[in-house]
Amino acid sequence: MLRELGSELSFSVVQSSVLVFTSEQSQLLVILMAFIVMLVIEDRHACAERPLKAFRRHYLTNISMFVFNSVMMSLLSVYSLLTIAEQYASAGLLSQISNPVIRIAVSFMLLDLTLYFWHKANHMFNFLWMFHQVHHSDPSFNVSTAFRLHLVELLLTAGLKALYIIVFGVDKAVVIISEAVITVFVIFHHMDVSVPGEKWLGRIIIVPYLHKAHHSTLREEHDHNYGAVFSIWDHLFKTIIEIRPAEIGLRYVKTQDFMALFLLGFTRFQSSRH
Ligand SMILES: [Zn+2]
Repeated sequence: MLRELGSELSFSVVQSSVLVFTSEQSQLLVILMAFIVMLVIEDRHACAERPLKAFRRHYLTNISMFVFNSVMMSLLSVYSLLTIAEQYASAGLLSQISNPVIRIAVSFMLLDLTLYFWHKANHMFNFLWMFHQVHHSDPSFNVSTAFRLHLVELLLTAGLKALYIIVFGVDKAVVIISEAVITVFVIFHHMDVSVPGEKWLGRIIIVPYLHKAHHSTLREEHDHNYGAVFSIWDHLFKTIIEIRPAEIGLRYVKTQDFMALFLLGFTRFQSSRH
């Protein structure tokens, strides 16, 4: 009887372990699902005309970058960096908050604020702009632009998140879940659509028309609207701008080839950043 019960139990454990995803896999699944949903919505309500051939090429380049980056991040075991960081997180600033809901909410806000400053630093310092310029080099603005990121920028951001875990004393899982929510917002604000009530919403969160201004070719325009989720940081630190950019991308980047864009990340740009 007990043996039967035991084998039944072990069978259900094996069964459930097949269904349980690791937090990293769940994160990837959420991101992909959000991407597909927003892709369909954007396709039906896009603001700009989309010449099919050029459009396909942008998508192919940006999605190739996403696949390449995901494989490299996995091969380099980047998430193990967060596991190591977690071991040093017990004395972090937020570990004093006993209520888990408040701790997670405060952690989410602080991570978004940290990413605001990190994004600003990517525009201020030439060394960081070298990698970040790859994201801004897309001459079109659509959901796939969210995935056009240089691998080195992603690795540096992972290092920053590890530091964030140690300083604020949050669990790795909280950072991974927050990261998934932030990435869904990042895909959302790259949608080439008008959102109903966007002027009002833009006072609190980054909506597509605010982030489109961030992709202007003009530096005096793209050095604004750094927020990922909340626009309150941009309002607070006076980096908000509300304009419709005349042109998107970077004039000095002509190529849209995956390899050339990867190498662009290691190339110093010309004196003019337009
Ligand atoms: Zn930027």
